[in-house]
Amino acid sequence: MGKLWHMDFRTGGEFHMNWFLSGLKNRIKTETPGKYKLKSPSVLEGKSTFDCPSKALENGEWNENKCIFCMQCDLKATERQEAFTVNDKIPPVLEKSFYLYPVDSGTCGACNVEFTSLFAPQYDANRFKIFMANTPRHADALVIMGVYTDEMESVIEKAYNAMPAPKIIIGFGACALSGGIIGDKIKKSFNIEIAGCPPSPENVINAILKAREKK
Ligand code: SF4
Ligand code: SF4
Repeated sequence: MGKLWHMDFRTGGEFHMNWFLSGLKNRIKTETPGKYKLKSPSVLEGKSTFDCPSKALENGEWNENKCIFCMQCDLKATERQEAFTVNDKIPPVLEKSFYLYPVDSGTCGACNVEFTSLFAPQYDANRFKIFMANTPRHADALVIMGVYTDEMESVIEKAYNAMPAPKIIIGFGACALSGGIIGDKIKKSFNIEIAGCPPSPENVINAILKAREKK
């Protein structure tokens, strides 16, 4: 088939009809939580005496919040996407539509990509009434990702103060939860901690569904 195209007026770029027809034919399959076939990041199991670069091995035991999933130690990936902690006191924000507002406090970019993937057809978080807010004024949860930097302290504070109550804070990824390899821990306590470097979208969906159960 020859090259079929027209101008995409939204992006100003070419819109290739071949890609469009191929997408219609092959479709994108929206995955069901629990059915993903990922090897890492995931819950790791086992013990290791490896000199972990992010100090995620304490007396051989795994600390998921510090792990950057480099897979250099003897721990084994289980493929279970449940590396998260839901703290006990969750304000009542999860029952209805749940809006997330992400703040980048110094990421490498990968956490941002995985967070955005939540709303792509493969994961389609909207089907679980999980949405992204464009402003903290419409958000139920502040999602903080990246290492903590002094410059971002006031930005995080302003975003949090702009959110209507009740509201929660989600720590997203090793950098936010523990500082990862190079940073400091974010100076806020999190209602939900989602491990990973970066966390997988399935891990995020599982964490929010679990938080809904615990509310
Ligand atoms: S996978 Fe890497 S970061 Fe995680 S515990 Fe093993 S060595 Fe440490
Ligand atoms: S947790 Fe990992 S992926 Fe996320 S910002 Fe830090 S280094 Fe990047």
